[in-house]
Amino acid sequence: MSENSAGTTGLVPGDHTSLFIDGHAVEGAGGRFPTVDPATEEVLGTAADGTADDMDAAIASARTAFDTTAWRDDHALRARCLRQLHDALTADVERLRALTIAEVGAPRMLTSGAQLEAPLDYLPWYADLIESYAWTTDMGVAAPMGMRSKRRVEREAVGVVGAVTPWNFPHQINFAKVAPALAAGNTVVLKPAPDTPWCAAEIARIAHEHTDIPPGVFNVVTSSDHSVGAMLSSDPRVDLVSFTGSTATGRAVMTAAAPTLKKVFLELGGKSAFVVLDDADIASACSMAAFTVATHAGQGCAITTRLLVPRAHYDDAIAATRATMSSLTPGDPRDAGTVCGPLISQRQRDRVEGYIDLAVTEGGKIECGGRRPDGRDRGFFVEPTLISGLDNSARAAQEEIFGPVLVVLPHDGDEDAIRIANDSPYGLSGAVYGTDPARIDRVVRGIRTGTMGVNGGVWYGADVPFGGYKQSGIGREMGVAGFEEYLETKLVAELA
Ligand code: NAD
Repeated sequence: MSENSAGTTGLVPGDHTSLFIDGHAVEGAGGRFPTVDPATEEVLGTAADGTADDMDAAIASARTAFDTTAWRDDHALRARCLRQLHDALTADVERLRALTIAEVGAPRMLTSGAQLEAPLDYLPWYADLIESYAWTTDMGVAAPMGMRSKRRVEREAVGVVGAVTPWNFPHQINFAKVAPALAAGNTVVLKPAPDTPWCAAEIARIAHEHTDIPPGVFNVVTSSDHSVGAMLSSDPRVDLVSFTGSTATGRAVMTAAAPTLKKVFLELGGKSAFVVLDDADIASACSMAAFTVATHAGQGCAITTRLLVPRAHYDDAIAATRATMSSLTPGDPRDAGTVCGPLISQRQRDRVEGYIDLAVTEGGKIECGGRRPDGRDRGFFVEPTLISGLDNSARAAQEEIFGPVLVVLPHDGDEDAIRIANDSPYGLSGAVYGTDPARIDRVVRGIRTGTMGVNGGVWYGADVPFGGYKQSGIGREMGVAGFEEYLETKLVAELA
């Protein structure tokens, strides 16, 4: 371990990150705030603490860069910069891996996928899209009101994008916003969660050191103060706010954005259903449901946290789920075999334990887990927890817990399973296991949700749209749909 100048034990390089505003690394006017390893509770180092004045400067620089530079029109420059950034990050991937494991508590095995390496690939994917996208569409000639006119549709960048992100999959979510927003020709101010400032600040540092991205095009403001990020919703110089986080904060973002009528893009919470039909292999389906909810300690918006099983198989399903969940003991995220790491913070562990207690007061039975693992007196760990005996109307079945907690609910057939799955304010994700394709198709169509996995199918990828129905969000991230969220549409007509 190295000793850094703040006197903390820096486990990884990058233990004194800066803000990046107008092409410069700058100190935050608020001083510094600590970043903590959730597996050990050690202070890893510090991040620059941005204030309202820093955010004001970042927005001003993004506005100027959009209004006065060639960025929004220069496709070749943008494609080159995204590829340069990808190459530089790839060259530094092992250091980024160590940083991500330390700061996020992300199990090492996930860093070869959605926690690090997969999101890096969004950059060349969007670089390619810049080159293949139909920026101009010829609409032919028409004569409205007798005026013969040749029409075309131009797609243009929206302008300044304010991006606000959570801590659970910081690279995935940061790149899912920054890559398409920059590819589309926007300028960006990224405000990451206070729990994971380094993941964003390091990307900005590498971008400024290794790419031709012009000053002001990509700014990062880390801050311990949520209200600094809230400025992106209300500031009239920001044209679009792209937010990922809880549904409660999403509402606040939308409300704050209303006076300036900016575009609002929201990726919010979930309470997704994992439906097991009576012709499925019940044991293997339940084992998969158990594995899913233990992954990254359940800190994924799209993780299926309600397990719907046929009533006739309720006891067998509980036994199979419990067997897998009990085997997934929370462990050190640095170990290659760890699936379930720590929760991000003391606050989050309090929240998860509070929901487990609530489930018991609501009449739920803890089938396994429900407490901190033996022998781990440091780190924010909670055992994978299975809760039976609740009705879908219980708060523990309705509200997002964001921990390794699975509620198992009986259903009385396919239509009943669809009804229970839909009895939720959310609609982000889902899964169905069965044998009969027609029955599976009916369930896929019947559940109002943004993604569905069938018999273990994985929907994740740079090229496919992800997002929520109902109170899980507005808009789609990733793929062409995620790119077009960051575009305006201009109709041009010339007399022919
Ligand atoms: P959160 O809503 O507390 O915070 C998210 C971000 O919003 C942070 O950067 C925070 O600083 C900022 N913020 C807080 N108050 C704000 C305000 N008034 N205005 C603007 N920004 C504000 O969420 P969290 O606890 O960091 O993350 C967990 C939540 O994120 C869960 O609900 C999860 O489902 C959701 N999430 C959704 C997706 C998705 O794609 N749908 C992905 C990951 C996480």
